[in-house]
Amino acid sequence: MQRPYNFSAGPATMPAEVLAQAADEMLDWPDASGKRCGMGVMEMSHRGKEFQSIYDRTEADLRELLAVPANFKILFMQGGGLAENAIVPLNLSALRAAQGGQGHVDFVLTGSWSEKSHKEAGKYCQTAVAASGKADGFTAIPAASSWQLSDQASYVHLCTNETINGIEFQTLPDLKALGSKAELVIDFSSHVASRPVDWSKVGLAFGGAQKNLGPAGVTLVVVREDLLGHALPVCPSAFDYKTVADNGSMYNTPPTYSIYMAGLVFQWLKRQGGVAAMEARNIAKAELLYEAIDASGFYINGVARNARSRMNIPFFLRNETLNDAFLAGAKAAGLLQLKGHKSVGGMRASIYNAMPLGGVQALVAYMREFERTHG
Ligand code: PMP
Repeated sequence: MQRPYNFSAGPATMPAEVLAQAADEMLDWPDASGKRCGMGVMEMSHRGKEFQSIYDRTEADLRELLAVPANFKILFMQGGGLAENAIVPLNLSALRAAQGGQGHVDFVLTGSWSEKSHKEAGKYCQTAVAASGKADGFTAIPAASSWQLSDQASYVHLCTNETINGIEFQTLPDLKALGSKAELVIDFSSHVASRPVDWSKVGLAFGGAQKNLGPAGVTLVVVREDLLGHALPVCPSAFDYKTVADNGSMYNTPPTYSIYMAGLVFQWLKRQGGVAAMEARNIAKAELLYEAIDASGFYINGVARNARSRMNIPFFLRNETLNDAFLAGAKAAGLLQLKGHKSVGGMRASIYNAMPLGGVQALVAYMREFERTHG
């Protein structure tokens, strides 16, 4: 069955193979040897050996896929990216604070999600904006050499792929080389597993699963071990990274089904050749779409070329009165959820790992045909 291509920013399209496998295992989950256990994954205790085996494989596969070093913990939490905007400062803002003093955190603002993170962190610590792309309408990333980093910051927060603005860091800054003692915290929600991560530059990375990893409900946190154990006294126990890590992400009941589904996605990613192979495909998909937009004169993407996201590609029709016709025609052609985020309007094509090249080719063909008939 050929399903329509789904360009949703998240929850986003999943590999059909993964959905089919989950359907097959829904009522009666088989272990690695194929032996059925009489229960579906949703019905298993998180403390039983069946779920523990799912969890262990999921964690090990993710560690392998993202090449997570042994001195980093992988946590599967709840609350999504937005809860992490509070959980990170609750855990890390006091890292470098004087005894009993308030912590400081620096933010680089590159779009809607880093702005949200900045606002939320202000409830728990002192914040400063080291750089902001707002004056340019968030169309570029301020050069790292221009960032005003504070001496006392515990960490610097970046959103390394701005899902709404379509901006992506192509390399991570080296804070040490910039003269900072702060840790680097990244929100990689919308490009995790689409490209490798240079862990030597990162203290903590977090991301909701519902774009590149699986269904909504589980939040991935990868954190260097020495950053555990610094939570503020008011930090809820279930959100204290040390407590979560010490209990193998099972201090409280984890989102078991979402973890299982993410695990199936990780097995699929390994069959595709892993993250490096995905990255090569993601580059080819993004180039195809950006080239079609730039060559058209009918569609526009205003993001600086060196900051363009490979995952989320916002574009506008020069004649915005055609927006509804464009979306209706796309839907009829089997191209779903192309409407841009309500805060920016226009269109957005999210082309995560599970979007095949064929989906982007079909979109580009539709865009050319629409331009030919409406241009
Ligand atoms: N950060 C980024 C980069 C996102 O794209 C999103 C969701 N679109 C969030 C955070 C918020 O995630 P959640 O809805 O899972 O809280």
